[in-house]
Amino acid sequence: YDGQMDDARFGVVLARTAMSYGALCASGVEVTSFLRAGERIRGAHIRDHESTTEFDLRARVVVNATGVWTTAIERLAGVENPLLVRPSKGVHLVVPRQRLDLSYALILPTEKSVLFVLPWEQWWIIGTTDTDWSFSPDQPAATRADIDYLLDHVNQVLVSPLTSADIVGVYAGLRPLVSASGKDTAKLSRSHQVRCSAPGLVSVAGGKYTTYRIMARDAVDAAARELDFAVDSSRTADIPLVGAVGFASVASRLTAHPAGAVLAPEQIEHLIKRYGSLANEVLDLVAREPDLGKPLSGAESYLAAEIHYAASHEGARHVDDALSRRTHIAFEMPDRGREAARAVANLMGKVLSWSDEKIEHEVTHYWASLEAALAAESMPDDASAHSLLAREQTAETEFTQPTRHGDECLVP
Ligand SMILES: Cc1cc2nc3c(=O)[nH]c(=O)nc-3n(C[C@H](O)[C@H](O)[C@H](O)COP(=O)(O)OP(=O)(O)OC[C@H]3O[C@@H](n4cnc5c(N)ncnc54)[C@H](O)[C@@H]3O)c2cc1C
Repeated sequence: YDGQMDDARFGVVLARTAMSYGALCASGVEVTSFLRAGERIRGAHIRDHESTTEFDLRARVVVNATGVWTTAIERLAGVENPLLVRPSKGVHLVVPRQRLDLSYALILPTEKSVLFVLPWEQWWIIGTTDTDWSFSPDQPAATRADIDYLLDHVNQVLVSPLTSADIVGVYAGLRPLVSASGKDTAKLSRSHQVRCSAPGLVSVAGGKYTTYRIMARDAVDAAARELDFAVDSSRTADIPLVGAVGFASVASRLTAHPAGAVLAPEQIEHLIKRYGSLANEVLDLVAREPDLGKPLSGAESYLAAEIHYAASHEGARHVDDALSRRTHIAFEMPDRGREAARAVANLMGKVLSWSDEKIEHEVTHYWASLEAALAAESMPDDASAHSLLAREQTAETEFTQPTRHGDECLVP
């Protein structure tokens, strides 16, 4: 059995599910050091990158679930033999569905791992690469070599070869592989490890999306063992994500919704796929402000309401959050969201009370990051591609202003 998952939706829906059980979630906050009581870790010192404030967060147990940053966090905690996580870069290409005359997905063995061509909405996703990444985990970069590797391999089985001009989007990510071995990353295990790395600090690393509930169970049970009182073992196996509860009746509820009547059936279907039973919250926004029911300028398969919702209900704080991590516009549109960025900034600005200057900054920053990513994609290797992205990051001057946190924001 295999399945599909939208990583942009998954992250935010998982956080909201945790919040419905009492968790407090904050994005854009960084652990910069740990608080201690003797040998025991008792919390962390936090830098909030949104407000540029710093504060201490006390905790009975800290769980280090930081993917490719796991080793760095253990070092920060003074762990002598940290868990070694090797980042393996994976690059995927997105091409329009009509470009390949295929009815099924393709999976083919390659000399290194596998090549796949998978259907994704109106596109095909072509992957994968699997190579060591030895630069900052903050900015994995796709290179000309990665793109050529994928095109060369897929073209061996296509009647009508793909070229760079067919590519509408490029993903580059880092797999967190737990290993001290020097083997090829493609040959390393994808299983996870959980350990108590220091008194009061539990690390969980490795694994896959497909095993995330097992990873969560193992990590929570390990954290519970660090407490000086008894708690029930993890119940994650029985907990549906928000948006899954009431899913069976969502189509009829949306059709009966006052704002549902003005939307086309494919728009309703799009909302159901993306939000499940939470889609009625998006329609509530349209009922209150009918203009939000219009297609988003520059990415017309999305509604303007979805960007408003990303800022009001899903904790999006920057244009890039909305284009890359609440929607997939940055990977689905041939201009990678360049045109949509302006409409997105205006919509987010209304929710988050941005000044005109802040709106302009968000747009130009998105465009500059995009130019850097596109330039990196023409570079021959990781070193040159990474240095381009790093230069753009350095050029981005600090620009923050207090953010209004309304009742609906992810951070209460
Ligand atoms: C190309 C590619 C293809 C993949 N395909 C699949 C697949 O088909 N199926 C599958 O199941 N899995 C797949 N995976 C694996 C899956 O994506 C990863 O296992 C998963 O994303 C890792 O999640 P994570 O939460 O452990 O780490 P991350 O998602 O990296 O989260 C770590 C978080 O820690 C935060 N952090 C780091 N340092 C600090 C700090 N100092 N303070 C506060 N926060 C910090 C980071 O900001 C980040 O948000 C794929 C991965 C890649 C790259």
